[in-house]
Amino acid sequence: LQCTVEPSVVVEKLQQEAEKQGLFYPPDPASLKASTIGGSIAQSSGGPRGFKYGTTKDYVLGLEVVLADGTIIKTGGTTVKNVTGYNLTQLLVGSEGTLGVVTSATLRLIPKPEQRQVLLACFDTAEKAVEAVTGIISAKITPSTLDIMDKNTMQTIEKFHQTGLPTDMDAVLVIEVDGFEEAVKIQTAQIMDICQKYGAQNIRASQNQQEADELWFARRSAFGAVARLRPNVLTEDTVVPRDKIPHMFRRIREIAEKHRLTVCIMGHIGDGNIHPNFSLDLRDKDEAHRFELAAAEIFEAALELGGTLSGEHGIGYHKLAYMEKAVGKKNLELMRAIKNIFDPNGILNPGKGIV
Ligand SMILES: Cc1cc2nc3c(=O)[nH]c(=O)nc-3n(C[C@H](O)[C@H](O)[C@H](O)COP(=O)(O)OP(=O)(O)OC[C@H]3O[C@@H](n4cnc5c(N)ncnc54)[C@H](O)[C@@H]3O)c2cc1C
Repeated sequence: LQCTVEPSVVVEKLQQEAEKQGLFYPPDPASLKASTIGGSIAQSSGGPRGFKYGTTKDYVLGLEVVLADGTIIKTGGTTVKNVTGYNLTQLLVGSEGTLGVVTSATLRLIPKPEQRQVLLACFDTAEKAVEAVTGIISAKITPSTLDIMDKNTMQTIEKFHQTGLPTDMDAVLVIEVDGFEEAVKIQTAQIMDICQKYGAQNIRASQNQQEADELWFARRSAFGAVARLRPNVLTEDTVVPRDKIPHMFRRIREIAEKHRLTVCIMGHIGDGNIHPNFSLDLRDKDEAHRFELAAAEIFEAALELGGTLSGEHGIGYHKLAYMEKAVGKKNLELMRAIKNIFDPNGILNPGKGIV
């Protein structure tokens, strides 16, 4: 139940090879057709399946890494358990390429689920959709995916792809349940009941693999479609505790309206991980400035609600200014000290993540 791969292996290719063996590599960033294992380890990428299966960090057992001085180290290994010293593997996962270059990775695989069912539940207000998410989680059901797309996102997808999304609705939930056939059947029925109870106007359940693929195509083409709307798209990646999701969703809409910005909201709502995608023309200095103000208010709102700046995209350059507020002064000092030990000359992704 594991494999060792080079960093340039593309995530989708690894998933396909694993599935041929009846196995499963769950991390599924929307960019999985292009995302490499090296990049996804550097970012600890997640995706729609994170709700049930976690993110890349949960699948990395061991790494081979080239350090800034050229030394090659191996961390972790092929054992499932390992508490021998500090966990350097997990320190490197999600470090945005600032501590070393991954040259090989040993990854955990799991058995492939027997059955999958995709549902699309449509709501006339995003609030109802978000409440249905709380209802599903409170009923102790763990779908493999619990994602949301708002009206702007659906309208944008339909503009370019015509996938049949209900563009008159305010939001849809994309829900996938997987596991043994009987369990999938029972959970699908429970989820449909809950969505109806919270006011779903229409629920579409995939009847076969082709329909499931079509629903996934709609979800996965969301970012690409938004990116085609205007010259630029800037995506935020905030995470809030699950009980604060309705509040955060509302705040994002208020902030976008206040700053006269077009926002398409999608995300892994079950994880509290919301992606507001701002469609912009950065050549317009006023609009670029309004985006900066909006992003700052979104970060503030996430932190006030007990959340954080990034769930899966990392800090990069854009969120650096908010790091101290997000993690605290002492933690930031420790992170800088770690960076300094690994990379005293600052040659690995300079200016990114930790400065
Ligand atoms: C359309 C689109 C959709 C996306 N959807 C998601 C999503 O759903 N979930 C998500 O988590 N992310 C998403 N992302 C962000 C990003 O694509 C993913 O995090 C992806 O997994 C990163 O892999 P990559 O190969 O593209 O890395 P790159 O973008 O090439 O690199 C990312 C970072 O990793 C570093 N890096 C690359 N290889 C190594 C290595 N071998 N060792 C050390 N550092 C390395 C790079 O220097 C860089 O800082 C999306 C991006 C796009 C454009």
